[in-house]
Amino acid sequence: MRFVEMRPEQLQDAVRRNVPVLMPAGVVEYHGPHLPLGTDFLIANAICEEAARRAECVLWPPFSFGPTLSWAAGPAEGEVDFSPEPFFQYAREVLRHVISLGFRRVYIMQHHQGPEGLQVLCLKRAAMEVVRDLTAQWGAEWGRRAPSTLPVPDIFGMIKVAALDTFSAYPSPTAERVPVGHAGKGETQLIMAAYPETVRMAALDSLPVLPEWLLDATEATAQEGRRWLEFCIQGWVNELGARGARVAPSLKDSEQ
Ligand SMILES: [Zn+2]
Repeated sequence: MRFVEMRPEQLQDAVRRNVPVLMPAGVVEYHGPHLPLGTDFLIANAICEEAARRAECVLWPPFSFGPTLSWAAGPAEGEVDFSPEPFFQYAREVLRHVISLGFRRVYIMQHHQGPEGLQVLCLKRAAMEVVRDLTAQWGAEWGRRAPSTLPVPDIFGMIKVAALDTFSAYPSPTAERVPVGHAGKGETQLIMAAYPETVRMAALDSLPVLPEWLLDATEATAQEGRRWLEFCIQGWVNELGARGARVAPSLKDSEQ
């Protein structure tokens, strides 16, 4: 269920049943000559869209831009290094409105630059400021009350900023992690699986020297990409479907 396609009564029904909101977040950044500029955003978007087909949630319009530090390239090759302050302010404004609409389970699936990256830090700051705005209305010392008596019992879990595999079940702590190195084998195979029409491996030959992070790109296969994509999707379906949300094969199909 895409938020922008909902009618008012569908919105009210989703809020009443505490349906979770799911927001993809990534950046537009050079990912070598063989991958699309929106690779980070597209990976998160593909997982969100498939998770939303399998578990009931409200799919929010994505955060497509964020700070990149121009790490991989400049504007001539498509890098969009969005300034952190306006990004943070925009994210906070979006989250304020999501909460004012009545939603109380919000997930942001962010993919770019790992858990300490500037985009994820902006999103976490935005989320916590929205939490602070809300709890400011509860008066001081609200933390001394029993959580069940608070207007939002799970206030610190109300907005979760998570990665592609945050909710996926690795078989053991030492199991191989989903590989996501910038534009290398990891991201190349995820894009091969999710948006095959955007990949052109032969374009790698256009670079006289490959940077270190592109060296393993040719090892990528769509098959391995599909395996990791599915691993991530399944974790999100489990999380979204938890706490009473209905798991449906496809809301769109069932409503037609
Ligand atoms: Zn990337």
